[in-house]
Amino acid sequence: MSQFPEIQFIKSVAAPSQFPPDSGWEVAVAGRSNAGKSSAINALLARKGLARTSRTPGRTQLYNYFQLGPEQRLVDLPGYGHAAVNAATRATWGPLGEALRQRQSFAAMLLVVDVRRGVGELDLALLDWAGRPGEHVHVLLAKSDKLPKGQALAALRQAQQVLEGGASVQLFSAHKGTGLEEARALLRRWMISGSGKK
Ligand code: GDP
Repeated sequence: MSQFPEIQFIKSVAAPSQFPPDSGWEVAVAGRSNAGKSSAINALLARKGLARTSRTPGRTQLYNYFQLGPEQRLVDLPGYGHAAVNAATRATWGPLGEALRQRQSFAAMLLVVDVRRGVGELDLALLDWAGRPGEHVHVLLAKSDKLPKGQALAALRQAQQVLEGGASVQLFSAHKGTGLEEARALLRRWMISGSGKK
């Protein structure tokens, strides 16, 4: 059964004028291209095929909004770090990103990182950009099934060190369901309590 029974796609946003009304709460989901972001969203929301990876690098990047419940939204941000999409990302990131950041409803961010790659400079830059307090930023170390348990735990400790308390972090596997409940619980909590700004 879906964890968020009322879930539906709202719209793709390509310009600041297109954002949904700034009320309630929204959680942004970000990650490098190929980190496992779409798979993570689909697993978290228990809806296969809801979030799709753009198969066309260089295409205009959009913010994809989903409604999880009344006044509860998830926004799927464009993947970053892929050489071919950098120009497109740069072109849209500025005004769109700035508009998102200023929204009262922008409560928290989920950052998806490939466990084998670890938290890198671009990921840290994005966390910095989001400017949310540590309890409202959470990192999923995705595809954890790709590493033996000992190595996955070592990657978790390494990520905790790199993040220096600026975000919480956990192991996650969309394919095996590892960490799914932990991540869902946090998402639900954020959706209910928001960022504490109001
Ligand atoms: P995105 O570009 O960040 O949205 O990444 P995708 O969700 O499209 O995943 C990129 C690749 O990683 C795909 O080939 C997925 O099948 C694979 N992948 C995603 N999640 C997992 C996982 O939990 N385990 C494994 N083994 N592979 C995964």
